Amino acid sequence: MPRKKGSVILPVLPMRGIVFFPHMLLHFDVGRAASIAALEKAMNSNHLIFLVAQKDSEAEQPTQDDLYPVGTVGTVKQVFNLPGDAVRVLVEGKARATLTKLSESDTCQMAHAVLIPPCDASDENLDALLRTTHALVEEYSQATGRISPETLKSLSEVNDPDMLADLVAINLLNRMEDRAEILMQTDPALRLQKLCEMIIRETQLADIEKTVQARLKKQIDKNQKEYYLREQIHAIQEELGDDESSEIDQLRKKAEELPLNEEAREKVFKEIARLSHMAPGTPEIGMSRTYIEWILDLPWGKCTEDDLDLVKARKVLDEDHYGLEKVKERIIEYLAVLKMKSINQPGQMLHGPILCFVGPPGVGKTSIVKDIARATGRKFVQMSLGGVRDEAEIRGHRRTYVGAIPGRIIAGIKQAGTMNPVFLFDEIDKMGNDFRGDPASAMLEVLDGEQNAAFRDHYLELPFDLSKVMFITTANSMDTIPSPLLDRMEIIEVSSYTEEEKLQIAKLHLLKKQIEENGLVKGSVRVPDAVMQKLIENYTREAGVRTLDRTIARMIRKAAVDMLENGKKQITMSAEKLEDYLGAPKYLREPPEKKPMVGVVNGLAYTTVGGEMLQIECTAMTGTGTLELTGQLGDVMKESARAALSWVRSHAEELKIDPAFHKALDIHIHVPEGAVPKDGPSAGITMTVALVSVLTKRPVLQDVAMTGEMTLRGRVLPIGGLKEKLLAAYRAGIKTVLIPAENAKDLEDVPQHVLSMFRVRTIQEIGEVLELALQPAAEEA
Ligand code: ADP
Repeated sequence: MPRKKGSVILPVLPMRGIVFFPHMLLHFDVGRAASIAALEKAMNSNHLIFLVAQKDSEAEQPTQDDLYPVGTVGTVKQVFNLPGDAVRVLVEGKARATLTKLSESDTCQMAHAVLIPPCDASDENLDALLRTTHALVEEYSQATGRISPETLKSLSEVNDPDMLADLVAINLLNRMEDRAEILMQTDPALRLQKLCEMIIRETQLADIEKTVQARLKKQIDKNQKEYYLREQIHAIQEELGDDESSEIDQLRKKAEELPLNEEAREKVFKEIARLSHMAPGTPEIGMSRTYIEWILDLPWGKCTEDDLDLVKARKVLDEDHYGLEKVKERIIEYLAVLKMKSINQPGQMLHGPILCFVGPPGVGKTSIVKDIARATGRKFVQMSLGGVRDEAEIRGHRRTYVGAIPGRIIAGIKQAGTMNPVFLFDEIDKMGNDFRGDPASAMLEVLDGEQNAAFRDHYLELPFDLSKVMFITTANSMDTIPSPLLDRMEIIEVSSYTEEEKLQIAKLHLLKKQIEENGLVKGSVRVPDAVMQKLIENYTREAGVRTLDRTIARMIRKAAVDMLENGKKQITMSAEKLEDYLGAPKYLREPPEKKPMVGVVNGLAYTTVGGEMLQIECTAMTGTGTLELTGQLGDVMKESARAALSWVRSHAEELKIDPAFHKALDIHIHVPEGAVPKDGPSAGITMTVALVSVLTKRPVLQDVAMTGEMTLRGRVLPIGGLKEKLLAAYRAGIKTVLIPAENAKDLEDVPQHVLSMFRVRTIQEIGEVLELALQPAAEEA
C-alpha cells in the first residue's frame, strides 16, 4: 500500500446499497464493466481497491458527486467468474479513506484518497463510551432478539473503539444513511456517541414495533376467533334451518334500496352491524331487530298521486253524505286552493290550513274526512287524542325504556304506508296534560308546517318528514282545545241534525248501508217514513246519527232472522214490528209539563253532545241566607247564579219581594242531568227567572224556553250555539223561545221548518224575559 503522506491512488469500486467498513469481510457480485475492470487492475497490482458507496444507487457511471466522501480501502481476497460477465469477489476492509479526487486510468477510474488513521485504542477517554455501547447493544439485543448469541458474545469482547463502532454498525444498523454516517465520522469519540444515539433510537423503534405487532396479532387472533365462532353459529343455524346472516343481508339490502335520509341511513346501518355481532339468544336481538324493522317499514319516499278533480270530489261527498252543505262547500274550497297551489307553485309543499271539524258526536265528522281521503286518492289514518295525557303517546318512548315503541304518529304513518295520507286526529279537545309531559305541545310541532318536515320520534331518534301529510282534526267543542292549537286550525262547525234531516239520512244512507253490510238483498227491508220517524223519536236521543245507525243495524239483523225463520223474501216495517224487533220504546217524547210551575224554568244549553233543554230548578227555604248550586256547574255558571241573585236583590222592591229575603232564606238552584258537565254564561237569564219565580211565587210558563247571558244591570247579552239550542227546543216541543236580540242574525242558519214550529222572541232586557216567561202573581191572577 503506497503510504506517501497517507494518500493513495487505487482503482475505485462504487458500491450500490452497501456501505463497506474497514472491519468487514464480504462476498458480493460485481457486474458493471467499469467495476470489473477496476477489480482486474487491483488483482494485477497489490490487490488493493477503494470501495465507496454510491449516494444514488441508480447512477450507472457515478461521478465524484454521486459518491460518499469517505470510503474504505480493502484487499480483494478472491475472485470467481460467474456465468455471464459477472464475477463474485471476497473483499476484506482495511482502512477508512477520504476520497479527494477521481481520475481515469487506461482501463478504469482511479480514486485519490487520504487514509484516516485508526484511533488510539488505549485512549481512556473512550472507555466510558465503549462501556455504554456494550450496554446499549445488550439492551438492543434483549429488546429485539435480532442479534444471535454468538455475535453478541464476540461483540462484547471487542474493546477497540474503531472496530467496535464498525462491527456494531454492520450488525445493528439497517439504514444505508446511518451506516454511511458512522463510516464518515473521523473522530472515534463522536463516532461512538453517534452510534449510541442510533442504538437507542433503534431500540425504541423496536419497542414500538413490538407493541404494534402485539396489538395486530391480538386483533388478528380476535378476528380469527370471531370468524371461527361466527362460522360455527352459521353452521348451527344452517343445521337449524334458520339462516340469521341471510336475514342480516336482507335487512341490509332493504336498507340500501330505500331512499332513507342521511341520519336514518347512518342509524339503520349502524344498528344492522350491531345486530350482526350479537350472539344468538341475547335479549337485545329482539329489540335491535324491532328498531331496524320500524325504520325499514316506514314508507320512505312513497306517496300517492293527488287527485284534485273537484267535480269528482263533490260527487264523492254528495254520495256519502246528506245535507252538510256548508261543510261540503268549505271542503271543496280547500281542495280548490290545493289544486291552485299545485298548478301555480309546482314542487312546493301543499300546505293548506289544518281543518278542524267541530260538532257533537255522530254528525259525520269522521266519515266526511274519510271522504276527503277517498276523493283525493290519499290513504286514511285515524288517531284518537281523547284521554291522551302523555307526550310519549305521540312521540314515543326513548329506546332506553324496556318495551319502548314509536309514538302513534309514526305508527299511523306506517299503517298508512305512504308519506302523504290524510291523518285524522279525533277528539283534539279531549287531550289532557299531566306530569308526563304536555301532549298539546307535541301536537303543535306535528301540526306546524314549518317544523314537521323533520319530526323526531323519541324511539326512532331520527327526523321524519311529515310535511306532506294532510292533517285534519275533529272536536266536540272548541272551548277545551288548547288555544295555541286552536290558532293553527281552521274551524268548520258541523251542527246537529233536525229530525227531518235524520229521517233523510236514515232513508238515503244508513238503511241502504246496513242492508248491504248485513248481507241482505237491496230493497228487501222497506221502512215507511212514519216508521222511520218513530224509530228516530222513540229509540234514539242524540245530536248526530250514530245511535240511529246502530239501531237501524239492529233492526236489519232482526229482519234477517225473521226472513230466514219465516221464509220471507221481503219485509215492510210497521210500528208494531218495530216494537217487536227493538223492544219497547226507550224514549217517549213527553210533551213538556204544560202547567205553569213555580221555580222551574226551561233553559237551553249547548253541551258536548249537542244542544239540550235543561230544566233549571230553584227552591227557597227558611235559613240563614246561603246560596247552594248543584248539578256539576262550572265556575262561569256559578258566577252567573250569583249575579242573578244580586240583580234580584237590587230590584227586590220593584219585583215586590221582601228586600231582606237574602237574610232569612236559603236558596238552592239545581240543574238536573248531573252527569253532563255544564258551564258558560248563557243560563244567566234562566236562573234569574227561576229566582224571581220562587221569591214572588209567580209560576213560569212551561212551553217557554230561553237562553241568554245577563249583566248585573239586567242587559241580555248574546250567546253561542244558537242553532243547536233551537234544535233542542224543537225536539222538546217548545212553543216560545226567548233569545238575545243580538243573536237574531244567527237565525238564518236555522232550518226553516224548525223555525216554523215555535215563536222566537228577541229580548234586550231581563224585564222583558220576566214579562214573557212568568205568569202574573197568584193573587193578581
Ligand atoms: P263523528 O265523527 O261526527 O262522531 P261519524 O263520522 O262517526 O261521526 O258518523 C257516524 C255515522 O253516521 C257514520 O256511519 C256516518 O256515515 C253517518 N253519517 C253522519 N252524518 C251523515 C250524513 N250527513 N249523511 C250520511 N251519513 C251520515
